[in-house]
Amino acid sequence: MNFAWILIAFLLGWILLMCIPSYAAELSPNPFQFQSPSSNWTEEQFEWLRQQMVEEQLRERGIKDERVLAAMSKVPRHQFVNPSWQDLAYGDHPLLIGHNQTISQPYIVAYMTQAAEISSKDKVLEIGTGCGYQAAILGEIAQEVYSIEIIPQLAAKARRTLSQLGYKNITVKTGDGYQGWREHSPYDAIIVTAAPEQIPQALIDQLATGAKMVIPVGTWYQDIVVLTKTKDKVIEERTLPVRFVPMRRKS
Ligand code: SAH
Repeated sequence: MNFAWILIAFLLGWILLMCIPSYAAELSPNPFQFQSPSSNWTEEQFEWLRQQMVEEQLRERGIKDERVLAAMSKVPRHQFVNPSWQDLAYGDHPLLIGHNQTISQPYIVAYMTQAAEISSKDKVLEIGTGCGYQAAILGEIAQEVYSIEIIPQLAAKARRTLSQLGYKNITVKTGDGYQGWREHSPYDAIIVTAAPEQIPQALIDQLATGAKMVIPVGTWYQDIVVLTKTKDKVIEERTLPVRFVPMRRKS
């Protein structure tokens, strides 16, 4: 009789133990689990993934600027990508955004934004709007953001996403980034997210004295160059090796 009770208690305990991991799995979704075609994850789960991204991919790798960390904790990166890619939005890699273009890996977005040393009163120019994610990060930190995209469909989509998310300080235009956007210059920072072979002179001209430009330069081999414009010279520092899409010439 006693033995039967022990057996029943053991079986009940075992069944209970088996339930715990599946409940835990629901609370902590695996970021690398791919769900297709569109995500079933809730905004709370995306928020959790975003905080993981900030801690593991940014803070632990040396991103220290609290303004950048706060912006990347806030901007819903998954809302900038196609629904079928949303589950991968917070992964440690670039993502396709259509028209053979990519949104940069989160670390590179943070690295470039931090290197540009942007503050809340600044006016910033971005070349290569893409899906608008980098523009949103800049919009969280700076006062005004101007962004140029050469592919009209991407510019239109980014404009829609940014307005749905309520950004009023970001202006996107379709155009050729090699010319910059003279009308609003000089800029307190310029971030370029497509790679030219050489730094376009028009962009240097439109940079304010004392300001920084962060730009990937090269063809197959590229480095992020941090350029500082002083009163009488331009200082270029080659930093991280990277791989960006090429900066196109207007056809
Ligand atoms: N910053 C973007 C990703 C950039 S991908 C984001 O957060 O999503 C690079 C983008 O630069 C592409 O969308 C590409 O179309 C654009 N681009 C390439 N050459 C350009 C040029 N000459 N002027 C403006 N945009 C350009």
